[in-house]
Amino acid sequence: MCGIVGFVGNKKAAPVLLGGLERLEYRGYDSAGITVINNNKFETNKTVKRISALKEATENGEAICGKIGIGHTRWATHGAPCEKNAHPHLGFKGRFMVVHNGIIENYLELKNELEAEGVAFASDTDTEVIAHILEKHYTGDVFAAISKTVSRLEGSFALGILCVEQPEILYAVRNFSPLIIGLGEGENFIASDVTALVSHTKKVLYMEDKEIAVIKENSVDLFTASGIKIHRSPALVNWSVDAAEKGGYSHFMMKEIKEQPEVIAKTFEPRIKDDKVFFEGLKLTEEKLQSINRIIITACGSAYHTGVVAKYVFEELLRLPVEVDLASEFRYRNPIVDENTLVIIISQSGETADTLAALKEAKARGAHILSIVNVVGSSIAKASDDVIYTWAGPEIAVATTKAYSAQLIVLYLFGIYAAEKRSSADSKLLKTLLDEIRLLPQKISSVFEMEDTIKSLAENHYKMKNTFFIGRNIDYAAAMEGSLKLKEISYLNSEAYAAGELKHGTISLIEQGKIVIALSAYEGLQDKMMSNIKEVKARDAFVIATAIKGNTAIEKEADEVLYLPETHPLLLASVEVVPLQMFAYYVALFNGCDIDKPRNLAKSVTVE
Ligand code: GLU
Repeated sequence: MCGIVGFVGNKKAAPVLLGGLERLEYRGYDSAGITVINNNKFETNKTVKRISALKEATENGEAICGKIGIGHTRWATHGAPCEKNAHPHLGFKGRFMVVHNGIIENYLELKNELEAEGVAFASDTDTEVIAHILEKHYTGDVFAAISKTVSRLEGSFALGILCVEQPEILYAVRNFSPLIIGLGEGENFIASDVTALVSHTKKVLYMEDKEIAVIKENSVDLFTASGIKIHRSPALVNWSVDAAEKGGYSHFMMKEIKEQPEVIAKTFEPRIKDDKVFFEGLKLTEEKLQSINRIIITACGSAYHTGVVAKYVFEELLRLPVEVDLASEFRYRNPIVDENTLVIIISQSGETADTLAALKEAKARGAHILSIVNVVGSSIAKASDDVIYTWAGPEIAVATTKAYSAQLIVLYLFGIYAAEKRSSADSKLLKTLLDEIRLLPQKISSVFEMEDTIKSLAENHYKMKNTFFIGRNIDYAAAMEGSLKLKEISYLNSEAYAAGELKHGTISLIEQGKIVIALSAYEGLQDKMMSNIKEVKARDAFVIATAIKGNTAIEKEADEVLYLPETHPLLLASVEVVPLQMFAYYVALFNGCDIDKPRNLAKSVTVE
């Protein structure tokens, strides 16, 4: 996880580093630190607080001179989140300074070796071995020392490296952790992702695994780890600076909730032409689609929940068995996958370590890999046979909202596309679904009108404990996401349950005043939901239900009803998730939680 930045140019480095770290803070916020080289000496500032504390202590970085530097915002994997473990880390001879994203899997072996040679460690991190190994292999040639060090490291690492003896060069290394080079005029940058770069440049170079970059004010050279020069053309990023700023909202999460109508329109509009779905450059041929006999969707967290929705949609439209599997489970069993299996991989960042490992596992077994990711050029995108991008723009809040919604859209579109090619669904149904998808932006916007109602519900119940989200079919899939949203940002325990399952044990937890959020908008099963609501009401639960506008029957049973705009039942999750996102937001707000940066979490989980 974590965010890395680096700068070399003809102006003060510290303000650039701190600005970049602030944009990357969503990736980890256990501690932060920067090092610049000033008058041939390292100058390091660290904090266990947020980047804002580092900015305050250094007049936004202006108090620090030096035109080259590296910075890091940490998500601790090895060693507690405290000052001594904050990056950058210094080598034992004081010549190398390192920031690292990832995990050095053989760090204990390297640490033992170094300690036996008399090297004393200042931190508990795995990262520190890198700085010491660099010192050990340095004989006057920095590149050679880096190259040798890379050959000794196992695991994932994106590195920013400074050597005090070469105060004009910033070195960067990438291996299984993301790292991008930003190309400016008389200045160059490195960053874990483009959000830290877009305010400076839109011209980027994507690094590949085991590459070393030698970055100066006026040049960038890429090499293989053994020193062979690589020629690669830069790419242009189309994310805007505004997208990485709050734009008047108190939190990125609410800004991103409100961006959903626009984001989903951006995701479907270029792909629907003449009432048909098109995906540019898809390698999955019609013939291949016909030969598919099984679909496996694998992902983590909220992306997994979009997979659960897709299972209902695909089974209906494609009449194929669909399995949804957590990537961290899939990768460690013996899954039944062959060349007739389509494996769909879903990840916002495209860097999720477990998902990437699942992808590789499925690929090795011959499956066709279709990935749905938000970040162009990410590791998952590159490793897949096909990629369909969600055009959600940068998502900064740790709890996903707009990326989840954009993933759903891509899944619907793919379902419709494949159903048409396989002739597995009625063409009228497919047309209706496309018409309804086109209306989703407007329908989601209408859900925002409920914001005051949702806010007061949250205000009345923000102390609730052990909440149940129940539902059936797609309502159940939406319940999973609603429950996760609440937990991750408000720290209140909740559980998503298939409504029919409650009576098989868990109903024993229902007692007076317990909140049950009963998602009942899937009208085909509303009668069943009514019975389940009755069951929890009989045990004195307080029930907040959802229903489709105009369907007031639910008012007889529920204490509060949130009415949703009508849409096709297969698309229901897209409108139903929105009030649940807003509810989680306001409950967290009333509980005084750090909404955009919930404790212990980070946005892009690049460790397993
Ligand atoms: N493994 C390193 C540490 O614990 C880096 C973690 C990160 O990627 O932030 O310090």
